[in-house]
Amino acid sequence: MPQQFGPEYVRAIAPYQAGKPIAEVAREFGLDEASIVKLASNENPFGVPESSKQAMAATLSELGRYPDANGFALKAVLSKRYGVSPDWITLGNGSNDILEIAAHAFVQGGQSVVYSQYSFAVYALATQGVGARPIVVPAKAYGHDLDAMAASIEDDTRLIYIANPNNPTGTFIAPSEIEAFLKRVPAHVVVVLDEAYNEYLAPEQQFESSQWVRTYPNLLVSRTFSKAYGLAGLRVGFAIAQPALTDLMNRIRQPFNVNSLAQAAAIAALGDKDFLAQGAANNAAGYRQFVEAFAELGLEYVPSFGNFVLVRVGMDDSAGARINLALLKQGVIVRPVGNYGLPQWLRISIGLPRENALFLAALRKALA
Ligand SMILES: *Cc1c(COP(=O)(O)O)cnc(C)c1O
Repeated sequence: MPQQFGPEYVRAIAPYQAGKPIAEVAREFGLDEASIVKLASNENPFGVPESSKQAMAATLSELGRYPDANGFALKAVLSKRYGVSPDWITLGNGSNDILEIAAHAFVQGGQSVVYSQYSFAVYALATQGVGARPIVVPAKAYGHDLDAMAASIEDDTRLIYIANPNNPTGTFIAPSEIEAFLKRVPAHVVVVLDEAYNEYLAPEQQFESSQWVRTYPNLLVSRTFSKAYGLAGLRVGFAIAQPALTDLMNRIRQPFNVNSLAQAAAIAALGDKDFLAQGAANNAAGYRQFVEAFAELGLEYVPSFGNFVLVRVGMDDSAGARINLALLKQGVIVRPVGNYGLPQWLRISIGLPRENALFLAALRKALA
């Protein structure tokens, strides 16, 4: 038997399955890269905001130096936007970093972490990465069952992850339900409220969860620049929480976890209201384009509050993989979610109208 390295809990981790890169699909299926449509990773179809490009260009000459380890300028803008003092903010190399830092800061090997079935894959990675025990609570209608999650908390539970809206299912939890949940969670258990898709919520669904951190010292709200702000490749996210939590997060994070370009681009994007508005409008229109077609095709889908839709493409457990392959052959990359325990489903990110139409045409062919 070959030498085995590392602890058992690390060997037990299933590698994260990212969306297939365009170049790889082009090579594998003999396609022209330019003809490929990628709707697999919930990226912003408008790409990087112009304002961020300019800010990055102005930062290039500074790249010989280390980034600002405390992200002073970015925290100042975030602090103003969210009405919290800068020491309530932690920056992350993407919000994945925030999720992982939280596990390292608040959980010890052997203790338990609660999250929902069908919630973001990184919660399992972060939990297993510190040798903690996952308590995976069965989903209700493909979303979080907060009552069951509250009931599942054990004496050794130290952390709970909640995604709202959730990925990959797109479900949304009303603010009143989250607050009722927060009231039930013991004071020593940290709740990470992951709001990666917050900016896609319609105005009537928006609520300022960042203000809850004043009331709940065990709450950490996580946000990202990867989705609505169009900066996925730069890796920048942030968390808002009281200093008792952020202080520990800041000790455990890498000192230079957010690079200079990312800090500059994020500041510019935060002020770019037009870019966000354009993205939200495109997303709402694309969502209608998708669900009207799914209804016409008789396909079940989970109503989504994010920039993607989960759709059931068949009733047998090979349906997701089969339709995914048929789409890849036509140059359309979407996300199979068999690794989430949803082998009959595919997750499709909402793109530009033309990309959505190409996907729907390819889907019709794949189903025929
Ligand atoms: C995309 C996503 C994130 C964001 O990840 P980044 O590391 O910020 O790119 C976080 N949580 C969920 C649920 C997501 O879907």
